[in-house]
Amino acid sequence: MKVLVINCGSSSVKYQVFDMEDERVIAKGICEKIAVSEGSGHIKHTPQNGKPTFNEDIALPNHTVAIKKVLSLLGSEEYGVVANLSEIGAVGHRVLNGGPKYATSVVVTQEVIEDIKRFIPLGPLHNPHNLSGINACFEAMPGVAQVATFDTSFHATMPEHAFTYAIPYEYTQKHNIRRYGFHGTSHRYVSERAIEKLGGKPNSRVVTLHLGNGSSLAAIRDGKVIDTSMGLTPLEGVPMGTRSGSIDPAVVEFIADKEGFSVGEVLKVLNNESGIYGVSGVSSDFRDVEFVAGDQRSPNPDLAEQAADPELARRSKLALEIFYYNVAKIAASYIAVLGGADAIVFTAGLGENSPETRERIIAYLAAFGVTVNVEENAKRGEIEITGADSKVRVFVIPTNEELVIARDTNALV
Ligand code: AMP
Repeated sequence: MKVLVINCGSSSVKYQVFDMEDERVIAKGICEKIAVSEGSGHIKHTPQNGKPTFNEDIALPNHTVAIKKVLSLLGSEEYGVVANLSEIGAVGHRVLNGGPKYATSVVVTQEVIEDIKRFIPLGPLHNPHNLSGINACFEAMPGVAQVATFDTSFHATMPEHAFTYAIPYEYTQKHNIRRYGFHGTSHRYVSERAIEKLGGKPNSRVVTLHLGNGSSLAAIRDGKVIDTSMGLTPLEGVPMGTRSGSIDPAVVEFIADKEGFSVGEVLKVLNNESGIYGVSGVSSDFRDVEFVAGDQRSPNPDLAEQAADPELARRSKLALEIFYYNVAKIAASYIAVLGGADAIVFTAGLGENSPETRERIIAYLAAFGVTVNVEENAKRGEIEITGADSKVRVFVIPTNEELVIARDTNALV
């Protein structure tokens, strides 16, 4: 069976098609600028069978039109990867928040649709668009099974004391306020790979570090999450590209009061103007901030002026150190609650591609006997970077959330 995996955002649809015979990606692409303005839209569709890439502006007034166009490309003579669209037996959707109800992926029924709607307050920036993708597929591919894989599901095994906030208990119950955690599909994929590499060790203790534009960590015992750093929303935890991560909640009122902002406006600042962007004043992209901080490995002529400014260089160094320090603090607390660690896993844009980031975070964990092999750490791909004398194994495992969604979809359908 072929499975179409969809990740639907407000104005974009990313997709991959898997042949589940051998789990090969046979096509991938992205639709952008959906309903952004009159006549806007762009599709880049890349077949993996040697056929040419389709890369054109095309009017995409809504998600349904985008998905119908993708389907016609998938079945077309020139750009296609299937002889007949009926070969696509199911669609897997990434859905941000499954609330307290969904601990696994599920086949989408009317009840699931109602629940995704009900949980919109828990994922206001994503759930509505995820739902648009599901509705668009029901319309464009009637009769084809749809599966929802939630970013929150893998974290559903957290014990009550890890997911309950110490606020009046009635609020937690009345409004479903609790730690949900995100990036669950990624933490699941890389932790399962790590446990394989540990030879399936029973009661394995794994700390996963998903470090990208958004970042989160998870503590995983015997394959089950016992804690994770993101919370009710992806704002909690470590500082990120533009998110503050955890701060004293009183800062919200303080900024509101001093700047004349509403609570909503302060939350926008904490979500979109904070993190390494807010501290450095340079960029939300770690490569840019590394360069302005003095790292010459990926020089960026566009940022030469900022790099020559000693104050921006100092702030960039500070932003990165805040990031390493806070990631290490949470990783250390997870090693503590797991009673030690068998493996630490780095993944996502930064975790997979920045040896410096890995080295700096591991340096903070020396007290736990974690060391890095500098030579191995410079390599790319799926690698083991455990130092010769390290008490904990350290892996870099490129994440593959789409494959997890495709596997779940295949299994359920
Ligand atoms: P993601 O959200 O997982 O796509 O990760 C995006 C982040 O990874 C961006 O901030 C990038 O700057 C960062 N990133 C990607 N490649 C590198 C690299 N070679 N060195 C440092 N950061 C990188």
